Amino acid sequence: MDRSEILLEFDRHGILPTPQRLEIAEILLEKAQHLSADQIIEQLRARGSGVSKATVYNTLNLFDERGLVKERSFDPERRYYDSVTAPHHHFFNVDTGELIDIPADAITLEKIPDYEGQGRLESVEVLIKIRKD
Ligand SMILES: [Zn+2]
Repeated sequence: MDRSEILLEFDRHGILPTPQRLEIAEILLEKAQHLSADQIIEQLRARGSGVSKATVYNTLNLFDERGLVKERSFDPERRYYDSVTAPHHHFFNVDTGELIDIPADAITLEKIPDYEGQGRLESVEVLIKIRKD
């Protein structure tokens, strides 16, 4: 996503553009991926950016709240930000912490528990935990 596309996305999600927010979005929204705050900080440092850790954490929270990215935390030690916000499934490697996308239509559920009276169905996202060989 280039800068003009990011600015459009910011506008669509009610996010005011700042240089720091743009830098973080350029890294995260570059492709379909899951990055932790630390991985984003690493990439910022590699680009010579001085954005503070606190700003990165605050910005990621804001992006998640506004629906620009989706926070995925399947393990208290590892929190990722997913650049794909549409519902989809994941493989999660519990040994390495790696998160791999599974397209939404690659899994069909034959039966889900009755949720009548609990609300309406919003989405179904499956997490398949795997281990290293
Ligand atoms: Zn994902």
